[in-house]
Amino acid sequence: MSKAPDVYSAEPIPDAARAEIERLLQSGDLFRYTAEQDAPVTLLEQEFAQMMGSKYALAVASCSAALFLSLKALDLPRDAKVLIPAFTFAAVPSAVVHADCVPVLVEVGENYRVDLDDFAAKLTGDIKAIIISHMRGHTSDMDAIMAMADAAGVPVIEDAAHSLGTTWNGRNIGTIGAIGCFSFQSYKLLNAGEGGILITDDPDLAARAIIMSGAYEHAWKKHGDMAERCAHWQNKLPLYNQRLSNLSAAIIRPQLAEVPRRVRDGLSNHDYVANALNQCDNLDVPPPLKAEARAPDSIQFNLIGMDDAQAKAFAASAAERGVKVQIFGLSTDNARAFWNWQFLGDQPDLPRTRAMLMRACDVRLPARLTKDELDAVIAALVGASDAVAEPARAYGT
Ligand SMILES: *Cc1c(COP(=O)(O)O)cnc(C)c1O
Repeated sequence: MSKAPDVYSAEPIPDAARAEIERLLQSGDLFRYTAEQDAPVTLLEQEFAQMMGSKYALAVASCSAALFLSLKALDLPRDAKVLIPAFTFAAVPSAVVHADCVPVLVEVGENYRVDLDDFAAKLTGDIKAIIISHMRGHTSDMDAIMAMADAAGVPVIEDAAHSLGTTWNGRNIGTIGAIGCFSFQSYKLLNAGEGGILITDDPDLAARAIIMSGAYEHAWKKHGDMAERCAHWQNKLPLYNQRLSNLSAAIIRPQLAEVPRRVRDGLSNHDYVANALNQCDNLDVPPPLKAEARAPDSIQFNLIGMDDAQAKAFAASAAERGVKVQIFGLSTDNARAFWNWQFLGDQPDLPRTRAMLMRACDVRLPARLTKDELDAVIAALVGASDAVAEPARAYGT
């Protein structure tokens, strides 16, 4: 049996990036608004919008910046309440706070998806916007969410940071709400170290976000057919300067062609491991929703019939076998456990989300892993479960 694989290293950046980076280093042309046309950032926006089937794209410094600019583009009043899932990355409530808004946390179920009853109960008249995080690529029921949001007249921002390549009823994730936001941070499907992009079909949201991202004076003229809308907002909006560098765009552009392969291999790796873990009585990988075709680069599963001590022993045993398991609620200072978002002040408890976080495990599973490496991951996880959990007893013995 092969030993557990390295799941942290990134894939190499495609060779095609090198010539373009060399050209940029030679010319020193790193700022997106210097060239008259066809700057790498501009080309990335055009290519990404086309890939996603959306009208406008704006590349920015991070997905956090994209979320912040999305909220700002919606022109929400100060202290506006924004619904967010209680299971997300700390960047999401942080972006809400950054935009001078107040997050309201919605319960998330043991399948990592928004609890629709709690969502409906909390979608009250004072909610001005909704952010849905497709956390680790798990898609909440977007049909139900959009129906409730549309009925209430509340705009939805999709945090698809870690969901590129996922589809819902055949539609690209990030194109369902008013705005979709993606990340190019190294742990996401497209890796530039840092970076993000937002997409929308709404020309006014796009124009406002373009100006606030830092298209100062008349730089917005380099955003193609957005000129008229941008002219309307000239000098009326703050400039937050959250632009992307040409170097980052040059690193991302040749990776766009890799997306279908990464999605295909990531999903087949995930499903292979999920199937094996589901044979084990103490491990459960929740199934995808019917409308969802996933693009995972990690696997999440719940520990069944284990107490806190057994859950910790499971993680320790898996680590000894070479596989690092993070239990969201049991690892110290985890940025995805809502009780660690102390910057929000006192929050009501969310028992359902809390119970899920205490048993939900997270294991990286990059698309590049081979079958032998996947088998080694499976052996470590099943071995750790067998070592710490009560063996499932047959009745009558
Ligand atoms: C990574 C991530 C973010 C933040 O992305 P950055 O580009 O690092 O700002 C936000 N939400 C989710 C769900 C993420 O996975």
